[in-house]
Amino acid sequence: MLGILMVVSEAIPYSKTGGLGDVGGALPTALAHLGHHVTVVTPRYRGIEEGKPVAAFGRGSWLGAPDFRVLERVHGDGVRFWFVDCPAYYDREELYEGPQGDHPDNYMRGMRPAIVHAHDWQAGLVPAYLKERFRGHPAFSEAGTVFTIHNLAYQGIFGREVLPALDLPWDVFTGEGLEFWNNVSFLKAGINFSEIVTTVSRRYAQEIQTPEQGFGFEGILQRRAGALVGIRNGVDTTTWNPENDPLLPARFSAADLAGKAEVKRALLARVGLDAPGQWARPVIGMVSRMVDQKGLDLIAGAVATGALQALDASFVILGTGTPQYEGMWRKLAAKHPSRVSVTVGFNEELAHLIEGGADMFLMPSRFEPCGLNQMYSLRYGTVPVVRATGGLDDTVTDVDEATGDGTGFKFRAHTTDAMLEALHRALSWYARPAAWRRIQLAGMAQDNSWEASAREYVEVYARARERASRA
Ligand code: ADP
Repeated sequence: MLGILMVVSEAIPYSKTGGLGDVGGALPTALAHLGHHVTVVTPRYRGIEEGKPVAAFGRGSWLGAPDFRVLERVHGDGVRFWFVDCPAYYDREELYEGPQGDHPDNYMRGMRPAIVHAHDWQAGLVPAYLKERFRGHPAFSEAGTVFTIHNLAYQGIFGREVLPALDLPWDVFTGEGLEFWNNVSFLKAGINFSEIVTTVSRRYAQEIQTPEQGFGFEGILQRRAGALVGIRNGVDTTTWNPENDPLLPARFSAADLAGKAEVKRALLARVGLDAPGQWARPVIGMVSRMVDQKGLDLIAGAVATGALQALDASFVILGTGTPQYEGMWRKLAAKHPSRVSVTVGFNEELAHLIEGGADMFLMPSRFEPCGLNQMYSLRYGTVPVVRATGGLDDTVTDVDEATGDGTGFKFRAHTTDAMLEALHRALSWYARPAAWRRIQLAGMAQDNSWEASAREYVEVYARARERASRA
């Protein structure tokens, strides 16, 4: 049994802008179920209720930060949350508008974590502080440090002049430290000052060591290849389970898919695609940030030639993103009101309805560290059509044209044509109901829960402690 300190800038049910928030909430719970003691340090953003004050710090007590308090809340499953209550930083409309960074501080006295697990650039300085400022501090003398990269595209880069304000010595400003092209990178700090670096799928762990996907960090990651581990994210099965999803109008399971048809009807009615005769058409769903990373450029290519509109399918789209892509979908919906619907915004309920009611789920991502939606889709009998990258490649098995074995449809080249080819294949299998059902059931049978992944993290924690004790 380990004491684990998790430092993460988002955690459901309190905050979420994407997959990181899902992990920040679900991984601690999965670890608690394995018997570990987890404390999650995370900002108290606007709207998060007050907890029990356990510590208060005056202006300037840490890096010249404004006044802040630490508020505690303990969940029924034993996971303890410590909210950094610093209104000057976190009481804002958006999570990532201002200076941000979570770091262990004096309030952790009295706790001796075996593991400090920090996530993404926002928490990247945590390992650096542990090595540089708290080396030898009794509270952390046994702690091993693990740093998880959820998305390498966000690197926390600031001018070198910020270094003194971070209370770190200039001797960390090297290639082996946190210097990146004469700037400071919080992400690089996380990678270089941790015992073990993980990322969220095996495939992505390989990809980020290549120039194509390394975002300039490939050399840094190659150097740490011996300490780099891929562990896929899991599905939080308490919120994503078609058998008891309260956000669905009907429930279903692999044993009885009847409810799925009802959900499809409700979805079409909800988004106004329920005119007579529309029902039989396959529904392709998307819940996604509308940005290039998610492959919206490939879709724009297919829209420009009319090839997307030519598919015999309806589209139910949910997301927010660049004005260009939001506008593209809006225009398409205006032109094809009977079979294209777009909802611009963040909407949990509609996301569940799409996962439950669509026939296919499209994720043509340029890169995808893990991706959660394709795993939700698999669980909900909604067949994923994905680009074979990162976690999408790890979790979806391409349907074999000869045998019909597989869980979805994959394409490799990052091109509009390759995406369209996969969509055509999917639609031709959809036209054969028995074969389609087999594909759905194969996906629903796949276990992508957190439990197996949490066990892998525990193994990684053991390695991190072992390395820390040797250092
Ligand atoms: P990323 O973190 O790169 O955005 P992931 O697939 O890992 O992508 O996670 C996205 C998460 O955010 C999923 O839980 C997804 O359902 C949710 N999500 C994304 N956009 C929306 C939206 N517009 N409304 C509701 N949920 C959304």
